Amino acid sequence: MPQNYKFSDSELLYLLTTNDKKEIDNLYKRARDLTKKVYSNKIYIRGLIEISNYCKQGCFYCGINRDNRSIKRFRLTKDQILRQADFGYSVGFRTVVLQGGEDPLLGDDFFAEIISKIKDKYKDMRITLSIGVREHESYDRLRKAGADRFLLRHESANEEVFNKIHPKDQNLSSRIEALKYMKSLGYQIGTGFMVEAPYTCTKTHIEDIKLIRDIRPQMIGIGPFISHKDTKFRNFKNGTSNLTTRLISILRIENPNALIPSTTALNTIDENGRIKGILSGANVIMPNLSPSFAKDNYTLYDNKKVTGLESAFGLKKLDDLLKEYGYEIAIDPGDYKGE
Ligand code: SAM
Repeated sequence: MPQNYKFSDSELLYLLTTNDKKEIDNLYKRARDLTKKVYSNKIYIRGLIEISNYCKQGCFYCGINRDNRSIKRFRLTKDQILRQADFGYSVGFRTVVLQGGEDPLLGDDFFAEIISKIKDKYKDMRITLSIGVREHESYDRLRKAGADRFLLRHESANEEVFNKIHPKDQNLSSRIEALKYMKSLGYQIGTGFMVEAPYTCTKTHIEDIKLIRDIRPQMIGIGPFISHKDTKFRNFKNGTSNLTTRLISILRIENPNALIPSTTALNTIDENGRIKGILSGANVIMPNLSPSFAKDNYTLYDNKKVTGLESAFGLKKLDDLLKEYGYEIAIDPGDYKGE
């Protein structure tokens, strides 16, 4: 396995701020070469199922936050989720990601039943959960039911920023604690942050990189902040693909074995974002596997790109596109290749 390189603070400051195109291209190439060393030219796909947009949290950046009275709320039934998982398996997905707001009506029994049904039926299917901060017993129970991975972004490693983008009932330390606890249970854990979210700056993104060094997650998900018209942050500027791709490369070089998605947010902000993410060192794509009414109402930010390659029907097209750049989709659970 390649050694983990750690950048100094001054290297990070330089890489995140320089306008020297040659240096940036070198950064992308170094990250890309490293990804290929570990994962070859294979891109892992995860089928994202958006299970509910009810949420008890009030994150100021997020379009499905509890205070948004303008969106149409939905919650998938168990059968609807299982049907999407069946469909996903039939077209080649070997991981489904169940993501949703922190919906008080979706308890452990609900998830445990879905997880065990999917795992009983498909031995080579992995299940990733992305359902927010929960009680320890809940993480325990869902791991025992068969969940393999859990995504929980720290959002910002800078406590002051974290507290400015979340209401008082949330804190950074409980997210970090939850991640560490889940790691101890044997989950593959994923963390990450929004790039250029309100109140962040180069210095706070360097703190994000360092927190990830400390947590050592198997998955790292980052995407640009994109404003949502019905949130408190509606007038803040969107993040950029330029900084997001540099950060992907830096994170790849520091975490050679990590599973790093080229995110929907990156593809929303930049029409070639998906490929730019791959060319800067990402190795995972998460096509949307939700029923269309869920896709339409799971609006975390404005103008979410949900057509064409975002759809599972577009997998063949996605593979063709990747092949133009020397990559291909792997029909594989896509587990972490580190120790
Ligand atoms: N509720 C779960 C949680 O908090 O982990 C999962 C769903 S949450 C909506 C998934 C991710 O969406 C968050 O971790 C956040 O980084 C991202 N997100 C939310 N609003 C966003 C925005 N306006 N721009 C970009 N990303 C956003």
